[in-house]
Amino acid sequence: MSSQSYDLILRHCRLLRSPDALESVDVGIQAGKIMAIAPHLEATAQQELDMQGQLVSPPFVESHIHLDSALTAGEPRWNESGTLFEGIEIWRDRKQSLTLEDVKQRAIATLKQQAMQGVLFVRSHADVSETNLTALQALLAVREEVQDWITLQVVAFPQDGIYGNPQNQALMEEALKLGVDVVGGIPHYELTREDGVRSVQQVFEWAQQYDRLIDIHCDEIDDDQSRFLEVVAAYAIRTGLGSRVTASHTTAFGSYNNAYAYKLMGFLQRAQLNFIANPLINITLQGRTDTYPKRRGVTRVKELWQQGLNVSLGHDCVQDPWYSLGTGNMLDVAFMAVHVCQMTGMGEIDACYDMVTWQGAKTLGLGDQYGVEVGKPANLIVLAASDRYDAIRRRASVRYVISQGRLLVEMEPTKMIWHR
Ligand SMILES: [Zn+2]
Repeated sequence: MSSQSYDLILRHCRLLRSPDALESVDVGIQAGKIMAIAPHLEATAQQELDMQGQLVSPPFVESHIHLDSALTAGEPRWNESGTLFEGIEIWRDRKQSLTLEDVKQRAIATLKQQAMQGVLFVRSHADVSETNLTALQALLAVREEVQDWITLQVVAFPQDGIYGNPQNQALMEEALKLGVDVVGGIPHYELTREDGVRSVQQVFEWAQQYDRLIDIHCDEIDDDQSRFLEVVAAYAIRTGLGSRVTASHTTAFGSYNNAYAYKLMGFLQRAQLNFIANPLINITLQGRTDTYPKRRGVTRVKELWQQGLNVSLGHDCVQDPWYSLGTGNMLDVAFMAVHVCQMTGMGEIDACYDMVTWQGAKTLGLGDQYGVEVGKPANLIVLAASDRYDAIRRRASVRYVISQGRLLVEMEPTKMIWHR
């Protein structure tokens, strides 16, 4: 009998250790780290939890959200056209009244909603096209405040374009100096195509100068002539920054003709960028100027995945001027991806789960910080499900969330009584 003792032992886990490995094991946790994984641990612990064969998975990763605008839907008015551009106008008005407290309170409320549903890693954009950088300062403060239970990356996001306003370039530089993790851009919303190309070049220069990751809102439009993805790919190839670069949305890629898309796919292979699709938002905001047939407005998720490129999925918005719905549940996002991207094959459904877990972790550059393995930080979730397919099909509830070795959330199973 071993005298080994842990802080916490999870018994009878159905552990999703890697995308294709399900194991029946116990997990021993000590001092915030995973210390042992074995079919049966001969050890004691201060606390033992019986997982009863439920699915134990690495946490969900939210790779694309805007926490600064979250929970503002209807303020100061509702988005009646449902378009991206009316959303930007409404946000332009709402952000006049931002205060540090306002942003912090909504961001933390949203992060709690996410954590309750198994999200422990989040990348949020912070709009920096507002003179006081209120949204950015608030999210940087939140990043520190929540670091004991959730990891937040902050992107400097020039919502109105880097060159859309004379002061925006300086605001981006200021944001970098204040300590953002990631440099953002929005080339398709710059005033001209030339400004768009110039903005991509500037983003890469800043990323190199300040040693930051890149995440560009790229071609989030149905215009089949919006072709900044090729510009981002070209800079990634020339700089060799590939895996540190993410192209978010790329919805125009869904409208490109196949001859061009085929050529581009070869460049993307060389560039090895990360991609983020936001299926809830893309299916809702895009295609608004179409009559019929209406486009789905989502990037080529299946084809990028088939090419072996890293694709993750984001929620993008939770109750804001662009999307009045949303709860932060990543299984809702994966479920929508299965439908909108027609990822209904068995392996494809599983892949959509991977896009909100391992592939999101790759986008965020989490490296060894992510995954349920001996020696890694003890971040994991327990789902009322038997496997990835089951989790997505039923949008399974999260029973336990373990963050940095400690129980963060425990959810009682809901009770249903059948009366006949
Ligand atoms: Zn976005």
